[in-house]
Amino acid sequence: MTTPEESGPVVRPAIANIPAYVPGKPPAARPGLTTYKLSSNENPFDPLPGVVEAAVEAAGRMNRYPDMGCTALYAALSERLGVPTEHLAAGTGSVAVIYHLLQAFCEAGDEVVYAWRSFEAYPIAVAVTGATSVQVPLAAGGRHDLDAMAAAITDRTKVVLVCSPNNPTGPAVTHSELEAFLAKVPPHVLVVVDEAYREFVRIDDPVDGVALHRARPNVVAMRTFAKAYGLAGFRVGYAVADPEVAAAVRACALPFGVSSVAQAAAVASLEREAELLERVDAIVTERARVVAALRDQGFDLPDAQGNFVWLGLGDRTLEFAKAADEAGVMVRPFAGDGARVTIGEPAGNDVLLSVTPAFAS
Ligand SMILES: *Cc1c(COP(=O)(O)O)cnc(C)c1O
Repeated sequence: MTTPEESGPVVRPAIANIPAYVPGKPPAARPGLTTYKLSSNENPFDPLPGVVEAAVEAAGRMNRYPDMGCTALYAALSERLGVPTEHLAAGTGSVAVIYHLLQAFCEAGDEVVYAWRSFEAYPIAVAVTGATSVQVPLAAGGRHDLDAMAAAITDRTKVVLVCSPNNPTGPAVTHSELEAFLAKVPPHVLVVVDEAYREFVRIDDPVDGVALHRARPNVVAMRTFAKAYGLAGFRVGYAVADPEVAAAVRACALPFGVSSVAQAAAVASLEREAELLERVDAIVTERARVVAALRDQGFDLPDAQGNFVWLGLGDRTLEFAKAADEAGVMVRPFAGDGARVTIGEPAGNDVLLSVTPAFAS
């Protein structure tokens, strides 16, 4: 028999079984061909001039630690959202904030309920805590089945994650749908509304997690600067939550996680929000063009409310991803299920639309 000393360090079983996060790949360089990365839901626009300058200015102080209290960022968010700063908890991307929140509330034996398929970081973040994922299949059209999710809540449930719009399928939850769901959720269960793509939503009555959190201390809104605000590379996102919840999330965050450059860029982005939201409008217009073209080609698409579309190609998913790659477009395939394709530059979207007809049913 080997003792732990003889066999070496032992990884916690919960960690050893974690599935690897599969990042959207960059396209391979193809001589003579312009390539497009439509695999990570990034914003195709170059950074705004004033934002770059704010970041460059902050970079000049890289010998100093960042402001751990995120003072300027919390002040700007507090004013923008109309919430006290104690309700805020920032992290290195809202993915990190989700990790911190789960760490603060979950341990082995606890359950976390979320729809599936949804954001691939969820099962990983849950597994890190040792808690158990309870995945509730999406309803028709790639929508959350909120009734089934409410029914999946047990005495062990600590957190429910609601992704609206759902990455990767696209449909968004309405405010009234979520209110009806919340009425069934016991007050000790946290409901995280992951609003990473909220700026792209164009439905009546879209969910507003910040508004919901005011009335219900068990609701947390999760937002990010990575998508609409175009700061994916700088890693900054935040939760808006009841002060006790926000404090617990901040307690789990890495000290000095959000860099000075990221804080400065986020504050500068909030100051230029109108300009950024015009760009979001352009992406939404482009999304409508792509969706209409795909439907004309014969695709049955779920409602696309993020900056991406979902092609439920089943067994042909990898074949499609390969064909797109060869044409110069990198998509995000989920083998056997479907491919998520970001709405990018019009020229990149046109390449996509030249590949898709061969895969239409
Ligand atoms: C992109 C994304 C996030 C946030 O990502 P960060 O870059 O970590 O801020 C959160 N949730 C979903 C569903 C996403 O797609």
